[in-house]
Amino acid sequence: MKAITVNPPLNGFEYRDVDIEEKGTRIRILENGICGTDREIVNGQLSSAVPPSGYGFMALGHEAIGEVLEDSGPFRKGDIVMPVNRRGCGKCLNCLLGRPDFCETGDFIEAGIKGMHGFMRQYIRDSPEYLVLVPPDIRDIAILAQPLSDLEKSLEEILSVQGRLYWKCSDGTYGCRHALVVGTGAIGILFALLLRSRGFSVTISNVRDATGLEATIFSEAGIAFFNSSLGYAGLKPNDKFDLIVEASGSDASLIPSLLSLLKNNAVLGLFGFSRSGMANLTSIDLQNIVYKSISVVGLINGQKPHFEAAMRDLVQWKHMWPEVSRSLITREIDVNSISGMSEVMYRKMPGEIKTKIVW
Ligand SMILES: [Zn+2]
Ligand SMILES: [Zn+2]
Repeated sequence: MKAITVNPPLNGFEYRDVDIEEKGTRIRILENGICGTDREIVNGQLSSAVPPSGYGFMALGHEAIGEVLEDSGPFRKGDIVMPVNRRGCGKCLNCLLGRPDFCETGDFIEAGIKGMHGFMRQYIRDSPEYLVLVPPDIRDIAILAQPLSDLEKSLEEILSVQGRLYWKCSDGTYGCRHALVVGTGAIGILFALLLRSRGFSVTISNVRDATGLEATIFSEAGIAFFNSSLGYAGLKPNDKFDLIVEASGSDASLIPSLLSLLKNNAVLGLFGFSRSGMANLTSIDLQNIVYKSISVVGLINGQKPHFEAAMRDLVQWKHMWPEVSRSLITREIDVNSISGMSEVMYRKMPGEIKTKIVW
């Protein structure tokens, strides 16, 4: 079968015939999503990327939907499914209980990233245990459920941290809680939409003006946009946040300025993967974290329940925010288009929210 393969730590990718030994339900891949992690691997920049043992290559891709080719477990021939991308180490209790997002050994494997073939290929075989049903209603945007699953888990974690206090508002909702999402990439936008659909008041920022497409999305979903190119001093003096999610992967020096924007008992969630800089925290910054009961939490990787939650949210968003739902997939590339593929695999395209590869 044809596959998009990589050979980390070398850069580059190939579209070629491969043989891969697998067991499980046979699935024909329909679409893959591309994200920053795929591009880091293709550019030879992800040091944790490693092919599966026994193979001199790795099929890329951790975002996929496919068609089930045979009745199997709870699935019927013709069902559309999405495979879960991280698999447990087989040793620690969290992994054995289906939560490799909290793997204790670090020996988990991850499709198309670490020690497991990814989903950018014509066919996969997989156990029904790792497959999530795609509601037919959202077939066109279902590829977003993989990145969204990470955010469903992240929000669950934030709410679990905030279980330490009364964090709902006097009307029982989160409407009085003000969240700032830093970054307007796919993750930033999906996180802002998720928080909005849970009732939070949401501001999203970038170091430039919003594009026309972003403005359409933010306007329909009721999200405020802030241009932070001159820092956050331009916010209203009392505009502080109960939650800040760093989703841009900016230089680490951004972090101290975000800490100063947090209210008492607030959470700083780190999702973006910073690759440069230093966060210089003063003793006053540390005193503030203590005195204000600030939580800083690392956010990564959703599991099967979060994929299911992501599917439900996408169904809901399609009805609540039709314009948003039509705007999130910004480009489709035929896998056989050599020029198109080499254009999208190495770098993010201007205006891109989500690019998908169609088989
Ligand atoms: Zn990804
Ligand atoms: Zn584990």
